[in-house]
Parts: sequence; structure tokens; C-alpha cells
Amino acid sequence: METAARPFIFDQTFDDLAAFVELFGEPRYRAMQIWQGLYTRLWKDPEQFSTLPRSLRELIGEQFDFSRLDPIVVLDSSDGETRKTLFNLPDGQAIEAVLMRYARRRTLCISTQVGCALGCVFCATGQMGFKRNLSSGEIVEQVLHYACTLLERGERVTNIVIMGMGEPFHNYEATLKAIDQLNHPAGFNLGERRFTISTVGLIPVIRRFTSERRQINLAISLHAAEDTLRSSMLPVNHKYPIAELMDACQDYVRTTHRRITFEWALIRDVNDTPEQAQKLAQLLQIFRQTEGSQHPGSVLCHVNVIPLNPTQRYSGQATTRQRALAFQAELVRQGVPCTIRIRRGIDIQAGCGQLAVLQPKANS
Ligand code: SAH
Ligand code: SF4
Repeated sequence: METAARPFIFDQTFDDLAAFVELFGEPRYRAMQIWQGLYTRLWKDPEQFSTLPRSLRELIGEQFDFSRLDPIVVLDSSDGETRKTLFNLPDGQAIEAVLMRYARRRTLCISTQVGCALGCVFCATGQMGFKRNLSSGEIVEQVLHYACTLLERGERVTNIVIMGMGEPFHNYEATLKAIDQLNHPAGFNLGERRFTISTVGLIPVIRRFTSERRQINLAISLHAAEDTLRSSMLPVNHKYPIAELMDACQDYVRTTHRRITFEWALIRDVNDTPEQAQKLAQLLQIFRQTEGSQHPGSVLCHVNVIPLNPTQRYSGQATTRQRALAFQAELVRQGVPCTIRIRRGIDIQAGCGQLAVLQPKANS
């Protein structure tokens, strides 16, 4: 007879664990020991919990499912600065997460869904369609996996970008719960400001996120400054066009006083033209701060441009270095801060939008 699935330990909040120890008549401080075992010692097997009496180690092993992510493929870029891991999930699905090393930062790019329902034409994840949401624990475990690897070298995760597979605002509760679990001061303790959520622009969810006044950074995938062009690349734009999206972004900045980021994949002769740069700069003037505000005159947003990464089912080409620089110069000329992001991990298909699941090779 099949037994019912046990709850996943990394889906538990601290309060869930406190309720669990209470239910089994254990003192409350045991919940803290379990939490610290998971989030500071990075233990993922009940046997490792040397701080607990054997009976409790056995109990948590019986009651909870530990470690659902099975790292089956690890790819390092040729410069050794980017690592992509493909994880198998128990239901046969797979996800990917990427570690990027910079001088001081160790940034993780993590997934929130298997596939994605939004169908942006240039995105490998969009091209594979939507399979399912990840649970908060499955999101958290991607981080703990890399934290463990980094710990062996005396390093820590410093930043997390939620820009892997999936649309985080299509899986809002689990995404925010995962951030809360990783933010907990007695555990992993990674500050909210170290997280960036990237969304394709689901307006009602942006509004909900705004009302929660969190310290988490928000990035919007814009990619075009006029509706016809944006709709041709991002089908979601039919439902949530640019003017309404900008309204929601403006409310976000007004409410939170936080700088908002816009992402723009530069596609040769499509959206890397001087006209698009001018239109974008105009669009973003709504973020110019008035006299009397904290940063009078500055434009409280940031544009990240990145040359398009190639994907199988999109024929558009990446921009050239020269055109990227001209695009950036036009924005800066109009007071809009703009960074050209360096492409990372192209040789291992770990760049933005390339996180499609590798198909296991057939046995020959
Ligand atoms: N669903 C979210 C987050 C995941 S996609 C979103 O769309 O924002 C992360 C970023 O990669 C987004 O800005 C997305 O537009 C961008 N992206 C997707 N495919 C890309 C490609 N082929 N080249 C460059 N950037 C791409
Ligand atoms: Fe989904 Fe983001 Fe890819 Fe669009 S770019 S298909 S929203 S993952």
C-alpha cells in the first residue's frame, strides 16, 4: 500500500516547525534547532542533525520529506565564473538554477516554475510552455544547494535574482514565502534588499506587491516602448499594455520610494534603434523626481540592457556592441541611468531566457 506523501521540510515556515514540535510534546527551542540546522548549517539529511536527540532526528525523518532536488547535470562556463545546475524533481520534472561569480558578489538566478505560460517569443522557457508551479521549498532548496557548495570555499550567497525559469508573479505566494524563509533572521538571514524579482508585467500582482511595501527590488521586462512592438514579442502586452503598466510602475515608485529596474533584451534592428531609445527615455521621464523629493531631478529607475541571447525557436539576432553603446548613450543623455549587462554563461546556455530543460540523451 502506498503511504501518503510526507510534507516537504523546506516548505515549512518557522511557525510550522514550532507547531510541529509542540504537537509532539517537544520543547519549543527544538524548532529553533531544526531551523538552524536547515538554514545555517545547511543540513539536508535528518541524520546530520547532531544537535537533536536521536528520537527527534528519527521523528523528523519519518514526518518530513528532505531534499527533493537532485542535481543531475552541472555545467561550468569556460571562464569558470558561471555554473548551471539542472535539478530533477521527484515528479520527473526538471528545473535549472545558475550561480554567477563577480568580484565580490555571488549571485544566484533561480526558478519559480517549471516552464512558463507567458510565451514571450525570444525566451527558451516560454517556448517550452507551462508545466507547473514550484513550491516555496523547491525555490528555497535551489538556494541552499548553492549555499552549500559556496560554503565549502568559505563563500556565501550575496544576491538572488528571481529571473530563472517561470514568471514569479504567476506563483506569487510561493515566491514571497520562499523569500520570507530565506530572510528569517535566525536562519539564512539574507536581507530583502538582496532579492530582485523580475516580472513580465502582470499589473494586478505588481499592485499587490506595491501595497505590501517590501524592500525587495522589482524589475520589469519591458523590451519595447510601443504597444505594437511589445505585443509582437510579449503576448501579455495585449492584456496589460504599456501605458497601464507604466501607471502601476509609477505607483510602485511613489509608494515605496524605491528605484525600479527595466529590462531590455537588445535585438538587432528590432528594438535597438535610436527611435526606440528615444521613446523609452521619454516613457521613463515619469520617474523624474520633483523638487523637494529625496533625489530632486534624478530619474528613479534604471535600465538594464542585455544583448539578446540566442534561443532555438527565435530567429532575432543580438545587437552589436556599437549599437548597444549608442542605445545606452541616448538614455543617459536624457538622464536615465542605463547599464549594459555582460552576457554570462552563453557557452552553457545559462544566459537570460536560455533556461530550457536539457533533454536527457537517449541511450545508444
Ligand atoms: N518571467 C520573468 C522572469 C524570468 S525571465 C520575466 O519575464 O521578467 C528573466 C529575464 O530574461 C526577463 O527580463 C526576460 O525578458 C529575459 N529574457 C528572456 N529571454 C531572453 C533572451 N533570449 N535574451 C535575453 N533576455 C531574455
Ligand atoms: Fe515567461 Fe519571463 Fe520567459 Fe516571458 S521572459 S516566457 S514571462 S520566463
